[in-house]
Amino acid sequence: MSRENPQTQVFMINLKIRRFDPDENRSWIQKYTLEASRIMRFVDLLRKINDEQDPTLAWVSSCEHGQCGTCSMKVNGKPLLACELLVENAIYYFRTDTFYIEPLNVAPVIRDLIVDFTKAYDRVDQVKPYIIKPVLPRSEGDEFPITPQELERYVNATRCINCFCCAAACISSHETFLGPNAMLNSIVRVMDPREQEKEQRLKILYGYQGVCRCHSSRACSFVCPKEIDVAHFIALAKEGRITKLKS
Ligand code: SF4
Ligand code: SF4
Repeated sequence: MSRENPQTQVFMINLKIRRFDPDENRSWIQKYTLEASRIMRFVDLLRKINDEQDPTLAWVSSCEHGQCGTCSMKVNGKPLLACELLVENAIYYFRTDTFYIEPLNVAPVIRDLIVDFTKAYDRVDQVKPYIIKPVLPRSEGDEFPITPQELERYVNATRCINCFCCAAACISSHETFLGPNAMLNSIVRVMDPREQEKEQRLKILYGYQGVCRCHSSRACSFVCPKEIDVAHFIALAKEGRITKLKS
């Protein structure tokens, strides 16, 4: 699998990438073999393919430090951020030097590894992931104070970057389910003491597209690159414990 040693170790990596050409409506698996150092990330591998072997391979990334979620894709079946996956970690985790890469199955594919995330965002938009009606500040001035105790209850959930990895891993079979990240975005605003409007949000959360479609598998929590226990928040909602916590 590898030659040389310690810090300069180089691996021969095989990538089997699902391609899609919208002009010909054709999908196929293309194999690339390339040399990679241990600390190269998967976005670096894709860029290397573009530079040295195949400029037509289409993929997308933006911040490349795990904050925007645009480079989410499946590697050997696991949804993850390609900018966070190092070659050495991938070899260790998957016990192989061959990786099957495919786009997330959360929305239509535009080309190769690029997904139409605007369609995926339609589901998140339905839960109105913003403050609809703000509570007036409790004190003078423009800021609304939140106590550390209040924040502690939901601050982890606010770290969601809407990468849709959890949605791709979700095993809920019901096609109307808005998905784990949409649920999380809704739950955050229900738990947010700055938000007055809870009713219309709860209607969606407990409606036919909401948390009742979750099977409590925890697959969402397992894949979240921000280490959010998504299933825990959904379980709190199922138990009706997100509104009772209000101070
Ligand atoms: S909950 Fe985690 S996996 Fe799901 S969209 Fe947010 S950051 Fe991504
Ligand atoms: S716990 Fe619920 S939301 Fe999370 S992956 Fe399982 S079914 Fe989907």
